[in-house]
Amino acid sequence: MSEKEVKHCSFCGIVQSTSVPLIAGADGYICGACVTLAHQVVTNWSRKKELSEMQGPLPVPAKIKAHLDQYVIGQHLAKEILSVAVYNHYKRLKHESGDAGLGVYDKDVEIGKSNILLIGPSGTGKTLLASTLAKIVGVPFVVADATTLTQAGYVGDDVENILVRLLDVAEGNMTNAEWGIVYIDEIDKIARSPEQQTGTRDVSGEGVQQALLRLVEGSHVKISGKGQRNKDGETTIDTRNILFIAGGSFPGLEKHVEKRLIPTNSAIGFHAEVRNPDNKPSLEDMLNATQPSDLRKFGLIPEFIGRFPVLAPLESLDVDALIQVLTEPKNALVRQYQQLLAYEGVELKFEPDALVEIAQKAIERETGARGLRSIMEQILRKTMFNLPSVDDVEQCVVDVDAVKGEGEVKLIKKAESKLRQQAG
Ligand code: ADP
Repeated sequence: MSEKEVKHCSFCGIVQSTSVPLIAGADGYICGACVTLAHQVVTNWSRKKELSEMQGPLPVPAKIKAHLDQYVIGQHLAKEILSVAVYNHYKRLKHESGDAGLGVYDKDVEIGKSNILLIGPSGTGKTLLASTLAKIVGVPFVVADATTLTQAGYVGDDVENILVRLLDVAEGNMTNAEWGIVYIDEIDKIARSPEQQTGTRDVSGEGVQQALLRLVEGSHVKISGKGQRNKDGETTIDTRNILFIAGGSFPGLEKHVEKRLIPTNSAIGFHAEVRNPDNKPSLEDMLNATQPSDLRKFGLIPEFIGRFPVLAPLESLDVDALIQVLTEPKNALVRQYQQLLAYEGVELKFEPDALVEIAQKAIERETGARGLRSIMEQILRKTMFNLPSVDDVEQCVVDVDAVKGEGEVKLIKKAESKLRQQAG
């Protein structure tokens, strides 16, 4: 083939082949990887625009928390911890860049970072907090799922890929990427299981913890050129200033905390107090009392725990909180379904005890707020199926019987609602 016939991607220079097809433009070509990268860059532009409209250069913790409040119900302690962490992250950024705008500036003081571990039952808003935070921070932000990670060289996602994605989000700007924030979800799933504590190689548990440790403890990590312009070269990224937030439900962690708080042998002997079972500390108390040693018993390695000095507990959501989740946030489920039905010209109403019943059902399922959507779907499925084929419906009313499955969602026709109004 002559030199002229060889087609290259005009962005990264990769040569066209059967595995690398190119899209032709007026003056050049582009490969799939560059299209993906360009998409990420453009998406990030719109996010940045939103940011610049929302806040000044240094958003104070109260402002960050107020923004989180619009989307996440309760979890005030976790919100405060996260807001302060992000605020300090900005401050460190200014400090390192020698910004005198902060007032007293002592260049000899090096401010360290405090990674955060979010601990709370499933469906209480850990991921929601992280993704909402992503909307307000002005630094690159990525969310990674610990369950998909494996040690380098094994099938799965390499831990280093998190940094590749961070660099992508930073539009390839290394300085920005090195000040990014990474959220690692489901961190409890990489705890080594008790059977694995001795012997066998544990590539998705302890192996991943070890691999993550390298990232988290602030080192120069080599990443391959994936997703960057320089396709062959390896780049080094300094993770010293990247803020890591990890989240997990840690099922059974409370047992370790309980053992520590109430030693099992304490009820033996003459002086033993007969404990009232109702006096047992609540799950929230346990989470608040969680210490690094409990996490170690759970199966996290001490070095890893040591890198997450801030523990932020999330509380389980009770009936009142779940009703708030249903109705209050900007994108609350009730509002979403009301909007869906509004397209049919129908007003959707929930009677107050129906909302209580929905919340109670979610608590029975033990999935926190995560179960609410499927409960709503179940209740409204038939209505959403029938409604578009029925004329003249003005209102849909969900009462407690409809939630319990003992009755139907009531459809009120225009004429009926007029009569009701006249009668009323
Ligand atoms: P997890 O704690 O398991 O990460 P998620 O954040 O994924 O839970 O929550 C699942 C869904 O439940 C969210 O998308 C959101 O709709 C809802 N949700 C959970 N907790 C809250 C909360 N505190 N406030 C508002 N919505 C919540």
